[in-house]
Amino acid sequence: METTCCFCGQKIDERYANNPWPVRKDGVCCDDCNVDLVVYARLRMYKNQPWRRLYTCVEIYDKENDMVWGEYDNEKDAKSDMKIWHLDGYELRWVACEVVNETYFAFAYAQTKKELKKKIEEHNKQLVW
Ligand SMILES: [Zn+2]
Repeated sequence: METTCCFCGQKIDERYANNPWPVRKDGVCCDDCNVDLVVYARLRMYKNQPWRRLYTCVEIYDKENDMVWGEYDNEKDAKSDMKIWHLDGYELRWVACEVVNETYFAFAYAQTKKELKKKIEEHNKQLVW
């Protein structure tokens, strides 16, 4: 069955039609309008959800074995642990996570706090149209 996109009026196969929520409550839309309008609207909506939080921390990272040795709230604690435990060959890295429903999604790693801040800004920009 053929149907019509509620945004651009293009004829589309009903089987491949997309849900236009939250931009429109009724109808269906084509793939192009889904990407251009609906996906961004959903991302923006999720961004404004109170349960979506940002969390940053410092990790001591074992590069060779791709393992995290420890996680810290600040660089100072991580550095002092590196000294105490003589963790040569390990590196500090800053991590930015999004916390959604108690689940942590790391979306950026950086060598410095400043660099991480930049990456967070870039990430947030992608969520706004
Ligand atoms: Zn369309």
